[in-house]
Amino acid sequence: MAAKNTVIYCDRCVDEIISRDDLVTTFQFPILVGAYHTRCYGEEAKKGGTARIPLNSPYMTGLIVVASLSCLAGFVFYAPSPIWFFIAAIAPASRFLSWWLVERHITQS
Ligand SMILES: [Zn+2]
Repeated sequence: MAAKNTVIYCDRCVDEIISRDDLVTTFQFPILVGAYHTRCYGEEAKKGGTARIPLNSPYMTGLIVVASLSCLAGFVFYAPSPIWFFIAAIAPASRFLSWWLVERHITQS
C-alpha cells in the first residue's frame, strides 16, 4: 500500500514528524488539516494570535461530546430539524479528517 509510505511534514519547519507524541493537528484552510511538531505549534500559537484548536487533543474530544449533546437538545427542545445533525457532525468529522489525513500515517507513538 502506497499510503503507508506517506510522510507527514510539519507545516512550520517543514521537517518530518516521526512520532505521534510530537504531533499537533489543526483545522485550517485550504488543506483542511495542518500538522505541526508540538514545539512548532507552540511557536505558531505564540506569534499568530489565531490559536487554532488542536484536533488531536482531549479538548477536542470534550468539544465533540458537548456539541453532540447541545445539538441533541436543540433538536428536541428547539426545532426538530436535520440541521442539528450536520452541526453535530462538524467536530467528529474534523477529528476523523485529522486521523485520516495525518495521524494514521504516523505509526510511531
Ligand atoms: Zn516543526
